[in-house]
Amino acid sequence: MAAFFVVSSLLGAGGLAARIATDLSAVLLLASGYGLIMFRDSFITLGSAGRRLVTVVTVAAAIVAIAAQLPADPGTFGSPFQVAVLTSVTAVWAACVLEPVATFWLASRSRPAVEQARLRALSLGYLGLFAVIVIGTIAGSASSQALTLAIRIGALAVVPLLYVAFFPAGWLRRIWRQSEEDQFRHALHDLLLYSPDRVTLAKRALGWSARLVGGDAAFVVDSDALVLAARGISDEDARQLTKTNGFAATRDNGGRPWRDGPMVVLPLEMQSGRGAMIIMSDRLTPLFGDDEMNRLREYASSISAGLDRVTMTNRIRVLEQAKSEFLNVASHELRGPMTVIKGYLTMLDGGALGEIPSRAQSVLPLLISKSDEVNWMLERMVEASRLEEGRLALKKRRVDLVELVGSAVDGVKMLTSGHEVLVGRPARAIVGEVDPDRFQMVIRNLLSNAAKYSPSGTEIAVRISRDEQGCTVAVTDHGAGISPEDQAGLFTRFSRVGSTLHVAGTGLGLWLSREIARMHDGDVTVDSHVGRGSTFSFTVPLRPSLA
Ligand code: ADP
Repeated sequence: MAAFFVVSSLLGAGGLAARIATDLSAVLLLASGYGLIMFRDSFITLGSAGRRLVTVVTVAAAIVAIAAQLPADPGTFGSPFQVAVLTSVTAVWAACVLEPVATFWLASRSRPAVEQARLRALSLGYLGLFAVIVIGTIAGSASSQALTLAIRIGALAVVPLLYVAFFPAGWLRRIWRQSEEDQFRHALHDLLLYSPDRVTLAKRALGWSARLVGGDAAFVVDSDALVLAARGISDEDARQLTKTNGFAATRDNGGRPWRDGPMVVLPLEMQSGRGAMIIMSDRLTPLFGDDEMNRLREYASSISAGLDRVTMTNRIRVLEQAKSEFLNVASHELRGPMTVIKGYLTMLDGGALGEIPSRAQSVLPLLISKSDEVNWMLERMVEASRLEEGRLALKKRRVDLVELVGSAVDGVKMLTSGHEVLVGRPARAIVGEVDPDRFQMVIRNLLSNAAKYSPSGTEIAVRISRDEQGCTVAVTDHGAGISPEDQAGLFTRFSRVGSTLHVAGTGLGLWLSREIARMHDGDVTVDSHVGRGSTFSFTVPLRPSLA
């Protein structure tokens, strides 16, 4: 461009020198256009056919321009042929400069923020060059000193724009990223907490890495070198690259990302081992600076934590599932044989199978009570697996709850035989609409717990009352009590208090009791003091018409 200005300024000279200067300026003008469009080609390729076409057209225009012997003085009009040639030369040059303006701008529309800003800077840079040359030519013909100076200043102003487009400064890249950063902060939270599996999380993470720092393609490699997700590159290519480069396995860079040719490798330090996220820059990506590398490092540790969380959650889910399946199978498989054992024991005890020695007879009540215990445990396990599978449907009926409590107390007599059970019942019946079996199950559960977790010989009180909340059955024992910390998780599945682990139990009873109570729109609550004992209260609402 500078040469064009120099040569243009010689246009005033006459004779052969003027002729050469005119031809040279036309050739230089075309060469500058050719250079600019080839520069565009290095970012967004024209393809070999496109390149060939541009070369042929430019060379042809240059030859014709020389052959036409264009007038040296831009002020004088030549023959119609010369005017046509001059117009074509200008058109070829303008096309070479304006085509990239449009191409860069259009390409910017689908790119991440950083690359978008860069492409727009390039587009504006080309537009600036075009403006400088056009106005420069007009200014040349106007031959005004002030205008020429203004053009020179204009040309200078384009230089920083082009510089910015090619080598954007760190602070500028930060500004470009800003709009993405704000959204990113919100998205990161969702990305880490709500991604259901590792592949989804990896995919989302790739999307954000591209938006944050640009990049042509990216992929995530797990600690076992498997490609978890890829974007802008096929899984197969990502696998090949991982095979040849080994990324994560080969290098320990203290958690810092590193450059590997056109790629940036972000190590992902996970519990299962080191994986990596690989971002591949392309011609449109500004060079990654320290700022991007630090940003990526923070990003990598968040992604590693997210991937670990998903792994843990999945592992817990699988374990929970296995536990539930075991519960289901074990309870159903054991129920049949236990019914047979209990049946024969009862027959033996009643003498239906003939006389047995008195020493054997004496252990039968104990065996029957133990088989009752196992049956009771199995009954709760079966109910728990029904509840988990959503198959626990209540069969509600209108019943006297006071009577139900009495039957429940009788039903666990074997289990509470070491205690004195005092039942405080109101004089009048309390009619409620409940599932009688499930209602009794809750009472039996609270009673058997009171017996299990308090010293034998102590008193267990059962109090039935009615108030505006409904009907409440409170079971009070004088056992060890439960600390406030242990009370917090008491009603969750399989929860058992550490100090009572020596007592046989499944940790299902209280969970099941509360679920059953809640299915009745009621609740089970606890009031317990360490060293003094506990009161578990089971409340069910009463319909006004029934109360
Ligand atoms: P399980 O008794 O089969 O272990 P539960 O769900 O009925 O299961 O009880 C959970 C835990 O709560 C028990 O393991 C025990 O530690 C504690 N717990 C329940 N009831 C009492 C009680 N009355 N007194 C003291 N601790 C109790």
